Amino acid sequence: MTKNNRLTAPHREGIPVVTLIPGDGVGPEVISAALEVIKATGVKIDWDRQAAGAGALKRFGNPVPDELIKSLTRTGVALKGPLETRVGVGYRSINVFLRKTFDLYANLRPTLSFKGVHTPFRNVDLIVVRENTEDLYSGIEHEVAPGVVESIKVITARASRRIAKFAFEYARANHRKSVTAIHKANIMKLSDGLFLKCARAVARGYPEIRYQEQIVDAACMRLVTAPSSFDILLLENLYGDIVSDLCAGLVGGLGLVPGANYGDKGAIFEAVHGTAPDIAGKGLANPIAAILSGAMLLDYLSRPAAASKIRAATGAVLRSGRVLTRDLGGKASTIEMTAAVIRALVRKPA
Ligand code: ATP
Repeated sequence: MTKNNRLTAPHREGIPVVTLIPGDGVGPEVISAALEVIKATGVKIDWDRQAAGAGALKRFGNPVPDELIKSLTRTGVALKGPLETRVGVGYRSINVFLRKTFDLYANLRPTLSFKGVHTPFRNVDLIVVRENTEDLYSGIEHEVAPGVVESIKVITARASRRIAKFAFEYARANHRKSVTAIHKANIMKLSDGLFLKCARAVARGYPEIRYQEQIVDAACMRLVTAPSSFDILLLENLYGDIVSDLCAGLVGGLGLVPGANYGDKGAIFEAVHGTAPDIAGKGLANPIAAILSGAMLLDYLSRPAAASKIRAATGAVLRSGRVLTRDLGGKASTIEMTAAVIRALVRKPA
């Protein structure tokens, strides 16, 4: 996050007001874990709880109720669980809708190795910066003739420049060494070509940060063989979506990686993972990704000490390996792992 897109959330009696969207699937389970951990840091937040997604569709006949939009307009900041998007049918993705409506153009996904989580690589430290508003997510699809459909990939200089600027500003503010733009400009010469042209122009303003480019397929291969050759990855929307999950796999899976969507006027914090319907409602979900998204929220609300406490506590729980959810090879439930994080947090004063 850069300083100039940090927002001062509205306050009620000195307490920041933040929209809370528990979401669908495992959302309510992992969001409630994040809330408990934030509470244990002592930071007070006035949560404005709102329904969205499949749950809201069932209850109110609308997956994006007006109340939710009003709340987000008021607060400008949210902690959000995953929302269900049906494959191939039904309403368009609400996640995409929210990102577009509030112009949350930068999706930031810090992907870090944890000691105690066994993976082929140690010391992975990648930052995925994904453009959030255009590309094949423009939602412009139509049937040209029976059996022939078109899906339009939209790339603009404005969106490409601002996401590149976000990546370089983040690199500068966080003392990172390089930004790699990932593309397929050898095939999509105009669209990905424009994205690269903009990234190159922005890179010239940051001579202290190394700028590299890599074709997306080669980048995927290199990520799974030599992840340390990357630092910040700068990607369009679709490549960013796919490469984020790949990067999550490098550090132990989707249950561990937090995320944030930033715009100039607000932010929504959410784990990289989806609704995980296969484990929803069973108390098996790994809460770490949601808890760490909560830490990113605390940074945004200018509570860095509390955010660091959360990161230290989650690190301690994973390192000790005693209380792990099933995705990490353990037997603990979501509630047990959350309790372990809180115990570690309370033990470790900031
Ligand atoms: P959606 O359509 O909402 O994206 P999905 O099942 O396609 O759902 P994810 O929800 O991201 O995608 O899940 C992919 C796999 O990762 C599933 O097997 C799921 O159980 C697992 N997974 C995702 N999140 C977690 C988590 N927090 N803890 C444990 N496993 C998880």
